[in-house]
Amino acid sequence: SDLTVSLLLQGIAQIASRMLGGAQCFLALQEGDALILRAASHLPADAPQLAGSTPADPLARALLARGNAALVGNARRDPDIPLSARSSVVSILYAPLSEPGAQGLLYAVHPAADAFIQEDLGLLQLFAQQAAIAIKNARIYQKLQSKTADLEAILQGIGDGLLVVDPQMNVIMANSVAQELLGPDLKSGEPFPAHSPLIPLLQQARHEESSTQEINLPPHTGEAPTICQATLSGINSADGHHQGVVAVLRDITEQKELERLRAEAMSAVSHELRTPLHSISGFVDLILMGKTGGLTEVQRDFLTTVKQQATHLQHIINDLLEFSRLEYGQTRLTLEPVDLSALAESVLRKLALMAQENRVRLLKAFPEDLGTLPGDSVRLEQVLSNLVDNAIKFTPAEGMVTVGAEDSGDTLRLWVADTGIGIPLEEQERVFAKYYQVGHNGNMPRRGAGLGLAICKSIVEQHGGSIWVESTPNRGSTFYIELPKGPPQQDMQAQPTTSNQITSWPGAFIPLFPPEAHSLLRQKSSIPD
Ligand code: ADP
Repeated sequence: SDLTVSLLLQGIAQIASRMLGGAQCFLALQEGDALILRAASHLPADAPQLAGSTPADPLARALLARGNAALVGNARRDPDIPLSARSSVVSILYAPLSEPGAQGLLYAVHPAADAFIQEDLGLLQLFAQQAAIAIKNARIYQKLQSKTADLEAILQGIGDGLLVVDPQMNVIMANSVAQELLGPDLKSGEPFPAHSPLIPLLQQARHEESSTQEINLPPHTGEAPTICQATLSGINSADGHHQGVVAVLRDITEQKELERLRAEAMSAVSHELRTPLHSISGFVDLILMGKTGGLTEVQRDFLTTVKQQATHLQHIINDLLEFSRLEYGQTRLTLEPVDLSALAESVLRKLALMAQENRVRLLKAFPEDLGTLPGDSVRLEQVLSNLVDNAIKFTPAEGMVTVGAEDSGDTLRLWVADTGIGIPLEEQERVFAKYYQVGHNGNMPRRGAGLGLAICKSIVEQHGGSIWVESTPNRGSTFYIELPKGPPQQDMQAQPTTSNQITSWPGAFIPLFPPEAHSLLRQKSSIPD
């Protein structure tokens, strides 16, 4: 601190005086362009320190200008010594301080001639060197301390909670927001409160680069718990030693509440839309069936479009409802052994008509004896339907969509490959984000709400799996899903990857009925009660 540096300077002047048999000693330091008298050995008892802004007298400036350390036996005979000094000073001993950051002069005066000897000069020179180093270090420390204080002020001022713990889980620092969030038990220098729900995350963060998680923090004063987004990173020294963990805590309670309200509103609106849409669709079906009398070709055409648009809207609304249920954890998986091959067959059967209408060929490429995995068959069918539906939608006529699977040891990998329009590389990651749709150029197939893949991702992740896409524009896309065989299947022998059997899906490409018959059949199958 400032005070410590002042005391150090004063100490230097006093020790020098003692070394020189009680001679009066002064320490002047260069501060910018000025030479300032910073310490004197003989000060009145009521003023033990100098203010720190007293300019050094002409004598000090003259001595410093001479450069090297020297001894002046009789100042009255020395023309360099200013006249003003000569009346009270006869012997002078001085040594410059020349460390970067500590430049100046240490000097001693005596009213008698030849008061100092050559050894005194050596001693003062040595002492001046040591003093310069001490001053330099003290100033570096002082600067560091003020920088640390600035940094602490910044960290205290940021809106997020900041917490640093050492490897033994002692709190090194916690700013005021962290203290507000984590409660009054959190104190710098003391062990991190053992009951805090943050403990497992802090322990986990020691072994990880960085992770972000949501966490519920218990209330301190009886209100609702705080929802926090905690980003934790382990701190490692350059030689790889673990130094502790830093956590940034952001209160997202309000944001979560807003999101919940938004989802609730979305879900309520979707529900309200579903009923009228259902009846529009039903009545159009009745009219199309001729229950209200005959129709002209044009009327049939228009009503078919109304029906198609209503069905499309129903899909969008279903996706919106489904996604809000998944996002807010209202969907629980019902796990059972799922036969992916049977599931794929069922999906292909369901979408065969759509494929046929789009003149897209469907193929199934599954190894024999793929086995089962624990999963929710309804949800997994939903995922696969979505992927195959998209694949058909985005594949031009005469293209091909293949659903395949392979055993990858601990996981089963499912894939849906198409020969369609593809997805540009920079969009491939984003297609799984909610409401995201690729801005494909040219003719676009009918669009959904941009939620299909977000729903797939959510379901696959609930199963502990992952989903990704590989695609080349104008060549096609392959969506992969990797699902763990899971604990119930762990003692099952890993299936060696057998060569895939390619089977053409019956009825998909070869037209069995004329197109009109298909639309008739479809109408029949969706007649309302
Ligand atoms: P939507 O329900 O609107 O189709 P999805 O979430 O299912 O939304 O898909 C998001 C976007 O990803 C789609 O709008 C489309 O642009 C792109 N996409 C999905 N599947 C494919 C595919 N097989 N080939 C090309 N683009 C695709």
